Amino acid sequence: MTHNIKHHITDQLLMGYSAGTLSEAFNLLVATHISMCDECRAQLASFDSIGGAMLDAEGDRLATLATGSLAAVMERIENAPTVVVPAPAERTDKTVPAPLSDYIGDDLTGVKWRHIGMGVRQAILPTSSQATARLLHIPAGAAMPDHGHNGVEMTMVLKGAFQDEDGYFARGDVETADTAINHTPTADIHEDCICLAVTDAPLRFKGLLPRIVQRFIRI
Ligand code: ZN
Ligand code: ZN
Repeated sequence: MTHNIKHHITDQLLMGYSAGTLSEAFNLLVATHISMCDECRAQLASFDSIGGAMLDAEGDRLATLATGSLAAVMERIENAPTVVVPAPAERTDKTVPAPLSDYIGDDLTGVKWRHIGMGVRQAILPTSSQATARLLHIPAGAAMPDHGHNGVEMTMVLKGAFQDEDGYFARGDVETADTAINHTPTADIHEDCICLAVTDAPLRFKGLLPRIVQRFIRI
């Protein structure tokens, strides 16, 4: 069964992924999503292409910036080469997409779950300490505690579905929540929900978005 993914990765994060400025945990989530999502993979390819064009134009670009002509830079972006969308490394309906299997194996049988209350279990994945990646297992019909966020939280559904104040999220969908959002994700009544969730410290991430853009366009 092919689920039509409705909730995607933001352009800023795709640009960060392309530029290599994301922490390992966020890289993992983006890689996992694009392994399942044609739309974001195409968008990423266009960012990769723009980044390459910008690098090719390095000398000209410096002269351009020296004269203060931002329009010329924008023209280069619009004239970036036509994008050829690469085929995904692996298309599969397995619960565990290829990027994630590097961390937990080909299925969920080896995952060491720990209860965190209200029937919810989690397993922290071994990533660098800049951000945290975890698997969440929410029993069918159960809710995560209502919570806000100190930083940015991205949650991608691997199995089942959940609903909260922001919408309905099924396999492949990504919810991006930040400090402005309070929510109570509740698993669909028909099936346990398994998600990949990544979180980052607020100051680190607030600083990261400008750095992503800055590094991407190299200004
Ligand atoms: Zn997508
Ligand atoms: Zn949340």
